Amino acid sequence: MRRITLFGATGSVGQSAIDLIARDLSHYDVVALTGGRNVTRLAADAVRLGADLAVTCYPECYEELKRLLAGSGIEAAAGSDAIAEAAARPVDWALSAIVGVAGLVPGLVALQHGTTLALANKESLVTAGPLLLGTAKAHGATVLPVDSEHSAVFQALVGEDIAAVERVIITASGGAFRDWPVEKLATATLAQASSHPNWDMGQRITIDSASMFNKAMELIETKEFFHVPPSMIEVLIHRESLIHAMVGFNDGALMAHVGPPDMRHAIGYALHWPQRKSLPVARLDLAKIGALTFEAPDAARYPALALATRVMEEGALSGAVFNAAKERALDAFIAAEIGFLDMSRVVSATLDKMSSNGLQNAQVTLDNVIETDRLARIHAGEAISQLG
Ligand code: NDP
Ligand code: MG
Repeated sequence: MRRITLFGATGSVGQSAIDLIARDLSHYDVVALTGGRNVTRLAADAVRLGADLAVTCYPECYEELKRLLAGSGIEAAAGSDAIAEAAARPVDWALSAIVGVAGLVPGLVALQHGTTLALANKESLVTAGPLLLGTAKAHGATVLPVDSEHSAVFQALVGEDIAAVERVIITASGGAFRDWPVEKLATATLAQASSHPNWDMGQRITIDSASMFNKAMELIETKEFFHVPPSMIEVLIHRESLIHAMVGFNDGALMAHVGPPDMRHAIGYALHWPQRKSLPVARLDLAKIGALTFEAPDAARYPALALATRVMEEGALSGAVFNAAKERALDAFIAAEIGFLDMSRVVSATLDKMSSNGLQNAQVTLDNVIETDRLARIHAGEAISQLG
């Protein structure tokens, strides 16, 4: 029996993981599930999976969670400290699928306890890559990528020498606005930005796909996770979302990872790693698909990509600035306070402001990440009010 914990169990990635685990329950001892507002789903899944503990991050949701779990013998808890405490419970494998920088602390705590961490929460790597991977190393723990592109790169590297890698190509569908005239992008609405051509994901990451902030995050993740310099990492528009990434080697070979756009593949690979086990994902009929297409990304359409290059080059805490400003700008876009293209203006202005203060150059410690996140949100808020 493998002891497992799922952080962000009620979300899109969390539910895909539960779909896999629920098919094979006799193999797992589910220790804790965490969620947020969706306590109905959290409680139902805790019962279905026989978890010991269910935690909502919101103290105001505690009573409801406790009521839903009454008589089940499952412990209820609430708040971010309770999530960190859940992360300290010994398990063999944990999924980090909380959205946003709130995923960082539970991941760090799990790694401090030697847990193998399957990492979907990209904000952890973007804001605190050296801290996260340094913690894993110090405690002999393993971090496995779950973001599909990084899982693809990881799989393409099995048995290879990283020194033979010349380039890493991550693909992008181009998002909801890939065929819009660039001049029209400023008018894009929340509803238009919230639908993805190929992937079914949480709302925030779907909007980030339309703006390519998601791909920008993934560029930074690639640099942090695989320790490759920014000059070796490329983005390629690939509308079909069937090739998730390619690794180019010094003999000219490209190893591509091809599969259906279904997060259960990357989650399942991390769940069963280092083995491969059968997964309930579609098998591709390439003759039917016929052709795969590739295009270079248009810098004017996707200004987030240039911001990612800047962050990768600046390093240190600029990832924390970038992520906080992006999260704040996304909140403002969702609240209809700013337009779609204003999101990259807010992030750019926040990076300028924080770099003129020299704040992003400090060491990547948890305290510095939290303080940088706090300050960057304030500066991003100022940039938002100047635009509004
Ligand atoms: P969702 O928004 O669908 O789910 C987020 C989860 O986190 C939910 O369980 C939510 O609870 C919980 N949550 C929300 N806020 C907090 C908080 N402050 N503290 C603790 N828990 C919180 O997100 P996704 O599943 O789409 O994404 C999760 C992570 O994985 C993100 O970092 C995303 O970028 C990354 N990712 C997602 C992919 C996808 O296909 N969706 C692909 C690759 C990476 P509740 O819903 O109950 O409020
Ligand atoms: Mg991805």
